[in-house]
Amino acid sequence: MTTRSETQSTLDHLLTEIELRNPAQPEFHQAAHEVLETLAPVVAARPEYAESGLIERLVEPERQVMFRVPWQDDQGRVRVNRGFRVEFNSALGPYKGGLRFHPSVNLGVIKFLGFEQIFKNALTGLGIGGGKGGSDFDPHGRSDAEVMRFCQSFMTELYRHIGEHTDVPAGDIGVGGREIGYLFGQYRRITNRWESGVLTGKGQGWGGSLIRPEATGYGNVLFAAAMLRERGEDLEGQTAVVSGSGNVAIYTIEKLTALGANAVTCSDSSGYVVDEKGIDLDLLKQIKEVERGRVDAYAERRGASARFVPGGSVWDVPADLALPSATQNELDENAAATLVRNGVKAVSEGANMPTTPEAVHLLQKAGVAFGPGKAANAGGVAVSALEMAQNHARTSWTAARVEEELADIMTSIHTTCHETAERYDAPGDYVTGANIAGFERVADAMLAQGVI
Ligand code: NDP
Repeated sequence: MTTRSETQSTLDHLLTEIELRNPAQPEFHQAAHEVLETLAPVVAARPEYAESGLIERLVEPERQVMFRVPWQDDQGRVRVNRGFRVEFNSALGPYKGGLRFHPSVNLGVIKFLGFEQIFKNALTGLGIGGGKGGSDFDPHGRSDAEVMRFCQSFMTELYRHIGEHTDVPAGDIGVGGREIGYLFGQYRRITNRWESGVLTGKGQGWGGSLIRPEATGYGNVLFAAAMLRERGEDLEGQTAVVSGSGNVAIYTIEKLTALGANAVTCSDSSGYVVDEKGIDLDLLKQIKEVERGRVDAYAERRGASARFVPGGSVWDVPADLALPSATQNELDENAAATLVRNGVKAVSEGANMPTTPEAVHLLQKAGVAFGPGKAANAGGVAVSALEMAQNHARTSWTAARVEEELADIMTSIHTTCHETAERYDAPGDYVTGANIAGFERVADAMLAQGVI
């Protein structure tokens, strides 16, 4: 019988190899560390995982595609971006994961997101593998026509790698309903197929699911509520700080408000807004979803209750709950220390890997309930899988039905993480619970399917 410490040293050795084999991909190294550092108990208990080279296979994407995306801006100048699709693991179903358009995108970022996605998708209990893609294209300040031409060029290469039974992209940072529409249009034009299940996050009326735009934010709030319930508390009357002002942040604020909490902040890359009366969602949606403006416009138009803080850290604002919903590594050790000093009770990740490893450690040590993104923000991909199910059946469900399914899935993810953590002697540690539970499901499927 291999001991946990022997297994941990094998995993540490593998982590060193991962760093050597994947140079200059710090985000991917971080994600691999975060998962592999929690797997020793399960790998020690089930030696067949190590014997089948399973973890070495798991950290190597099944396929990685990188391609040139040329397009013309409104002045007629030719621009060249880089496109990516990393098809990480399909043991449980077609690759599934969003597309990110942001200047910071590179192969390492897409690999970290794709790796996380494997475990997240497994935790939903649905039949979806893990993948991710995107481009270093920056949609900020681009006209609709430019975004359309970019999306068409991007899909002119991507279409040959995806399909409803192969790989099903969705949105992520910089990719919302507008971009999914342009991408779907070009896919349909090139393939001459009405293959609605090839992309999720589609518009309502042409294959989109009700509640898909809301699902990630709503799901994260339900996960935070479940963590609080474990401690005998609920959301009613709690003050929450939320970062970001995109899809995830907006629907996080909406659900927090609906459940009686007071969400007092939002942010973008220019700074953050504090609104002591609680964020006015109609105004925020108008500025962000309709006008595609910046958050300072919110403070200007809201009146005396709100102020804009250029730069700065949204985590300086005292609150009971923190829901990071912008991007990776946005909540560092200093921010975590400030949150703890201000009495935070729970941190639940709407974004992917927004909390640095040092910050996670500090929060857990201080007894703060910490919900890792692969569990807490899984509602988005879960409803994407429900969108695929509706597409296959050529039907559409009511909002009430989708929301009920989402709530059931989030409850089940919370219970699975909680029980798995207890089973492996880490009570209350949702990071360990999520990693091991997601890993076990994928690993068992990989074992059954042989060395491929
Ligand atoms: P959006 O593009 O809709 O919004 C992103 C928000 O985060 C914007 O307010 C943006 O501000 C801010 N932001 C992005 N990058 C940075 C940065 N480097 N520094 C500061 N602010 C930044 O994206 P989503 O809301 O869809 O995604 C947010 C997070 O949630 C991501 O981590 C994503 O991976 C994750 N996620 C999303 C899911 C979904 O269903 N959409 C599902 C699961 C996870 P600005 O406009 O100034 O850049």
